[in-house]
Amino acid sequence: MKTTQSRFYFRKAQALLPGGVNSPVRAFRAVGGSPLFIKKSKGSKLYDVDGNVFIDYVLSWGPMIVGHAHPAIVRAVKSAVQNGTSYGAPTPLEIELAAMILKTYPSMDKIRMVSSGTEATMSAIRAARGFTGRDSILKFEGCYHGHADGLLVKAGSGAATFGVPDSPGVPADYAKRTLTLPYNDITAFRALMRKNGKEIACVIVEPVVGNIGCVLPRPGFLEALREETERHGAVLIFDEVMTGFRVAKGGAQQAFGIRPDLTCLGKVIGGGFPVGAYGGSREIMAMIAPDGPVYQAGTLSGNPVAMTAGIETLKILNARDTYRKLEQTMAELEAGLKDAAEKAGISAKFYRAGTMFCTYFTDTEVVDYDTAKKADAKRFARFFMKMLEQGVYLAPSQFEAGFISLAHTAADIRATIGAAYKAFRSVR
Ligand code: PMP
Repeated sequence: MKTTQSRFYFRKAQALLPGGVNSPVRAFRAVGGSPLFIKKSKGSKLYDVDGNVFIDYVLSWGPMIVGHAHPAIVRAVKSAVQNGTSYGAPTPLEIELAAMILKTYPSMDKIRMVSSGTEATMSAIRAARGFTGRDSILKFEGCYHGHADGLLVKAGSGAATFGVPDSPGVPADYAKRTLTLPYNDITAFRALMRKNGKEIACVIVEPVVGNIGCVLPRPGFLEALREETERHGAVLIFDEVMTGFRVAKGGAQQAFGIRPDLTCLGKVIGGGFPVGAYGGSREIMAMIAPDGPVYQAGTLSGNPVAMTAGIETLKILNARDTYRKLEQTMAELEAGLKDAAEKAGISAKFYRAGTMFCTYFTDTEVVDYDTAKKADAKRFARFFMKMLEQGVYLAPSQFEAGFISLAHTAADIRATIGAAYKAFRSVR
């Protein structure tokens, strides 16, 4: 694989950007080597500056569920840009996207658009604190809810990959307000709520944890969150930035039949543009300025170009059979990867929820952050490189989920499984 140009750009980037990147995991440090610089993308493929082509399972870390540069989205965005790119005033587009989301997420009566997942979770927590008049929040180890102060406590994603789940720069006084528990530990959760439930403003959770790979909720876990938060007057926040429109069209809350008080979204709803959103019950959302006293704002919030990309993405997802097709593609990949690992004689565990998945190099069932950490990250790094050399682009860390799109073809899946078999064998 030729990487001359990518290495050239990486050297230049390192002189100008911390680590040569604008988001840590992109730097490939967890897998060694040097990141690929991308020139363009189309459908299921990424094209780098050296002329290599890859089947893409990162999909911009989730958003590109209909595939890259979908013609309908490109057309709509081009036309939107011609009308100007930002007004800082309301547009009908915001209503259209909001209505589409609320229809699919009946737990939300109202929604506020922001520009990233981080803003969505940060603002949802502020709303919960304002609503309850309480300061403490509870999160689960390995869950990543963006990089706001107070959420970088035992956090997943790059924070887990680089071993800084508790970031310097977050005041201790502030971090103190964040309580943490192991994901999936129902007993510990109930005990903590019995003791501290009345001080807790909100419980925030990734209903399926995508930021330490792909960890599914144990039966009864999400139900316990719902029950205890209700009992103690705490707000239940589902961070569906990753799982929204992925675990099911209506997110994990639809798949598992739980109604949270607040929901955070991002990724898919922006169709590849910077969009996040948070929403929930009428009572809580009445706290948000200008209706209520909890302040939250954004110069580019509800940006017309971004709203257009979101609307077009959801239109495609709303077409008949979309989720059946996604399910079929994912099921083929799942079966093929499991089979390839078995034939290659490698011990691995495969998990998936809707269209997100992870292969862990471990014998142990992965149910939380501790068991995820047991997976062999070094072996994953070698596997990653072997896949890359064969034209398959996976997330460059053992602790990240993979994603598929509507653009992934049967041929892509076959090629990926074939490559995986060879890669599994070579890392045995
Ligand atoms: N919450 C979850 C569950 C996420 O996966 C992410 C990003 N991967 C975020 C929040 C933060 O979103 P953003 O990177 O857009 O700020």
